[in-house]
Amino acid sequence: MPAWTHARGRNSVRSKRLGQARSHRAVLPWRWVSMPTEVRGMIFDVDGVLEFQGRVCPGAVEAIDELRKRGIVLRFLTNSTLKSRRSCAEGLRKKGFQVFDGEVITASYATAVYLRELKPRSCWVMLEREGLEEFRDFQQDLEDPEYIVVGDNRSVFDFDHLNKALRLLRNGAKLIGMQSELTDTSLGEPELNVGSWAGMLERAAGLTAVYIGKPSPYVFDLTMKTMGLDKSEVVMVGDRVSTDVKGAKGYGVRSALLMNGEFDERELDGSIEPDFLLESVADVLEVLE
Ligand SMILES: [Mg+2]
Repeated sequence: MPAWTHARGRNSVRSKRLGQARSHRAVLPWRWVSMPTEVRGMIFDVDGVLEFQGRVCPGAVEAIDELRKRGIVLRFLTNSTLKSRRSCAEGLRKKGFQVFDGEVITASYATAVYLRELKPRSCWVMLEREGLEEFRDFQQDLEDPEYIVVGDNRSVFDFDHLNKALRLLRNGAKLIGMQSELTDTSLGEPELNVGSWAGMLERAAGLTAVYIGKPSPYVFDLTMKTMGLDKSEVVMVGDRVSTDVKGAKGYGVRSALLMNGEFDERELDGSIEPDFLLESVADVLEVLE
């Protein structure tokens, strides 16, 4: 039986708490008096949680629909830099998810917000595809940028461009990494991820970069500010300890780790424990129990 079916009794209880229903006192009345901190918002990772290797994760669409019905505030937080908020939301909608552009936070969007706060004179944004939409307000300068901002610029990460970036950094440019993950295995075989390129420049130039995406507290703070909830009311749902669980813990929100997608048992070494361990996203409503 899917989780959202047997969790309906809980829905009645929540409605009662909100004063919207009065006739369910017979349903699980003990919950009414012993309610722990209520989960009112959830932040979902995208890759490995809602979709994986181009396919929708079983039960994900239904789970999101049910959470919406219950009035749970939803956000979708991905370390993708290639996608913009618009393209990420659009991709999810095409797969059947009810997702709005404004609910999505990509690492590229979060980095653009951070950069806007810095009011840079100029920057070199190393990124391609739709993620670049987030940076359209910025003056791109490959000759004398104040900031070099590294995202997934796979077609440009070659000897000439990386050496050019290295020299600019040694001449005073500052370095921002859109996220710090070293590898990406979401397509099966491991691939170099943004953190590898930014980390290489960081070491070669002898400086410290600022990283924005998960597990950085910046991106959790940015996400939370739009939810109108307290940290104690929110759960991060992800498939990786090193980004989703670590980031959530560091920021002070609870986390639910899914044992699918990019889940790697070796990451569960006892150093960071999720609050919930779920077999699949279809079980996510159990977090509300
Ligand atoms: Mg993931």
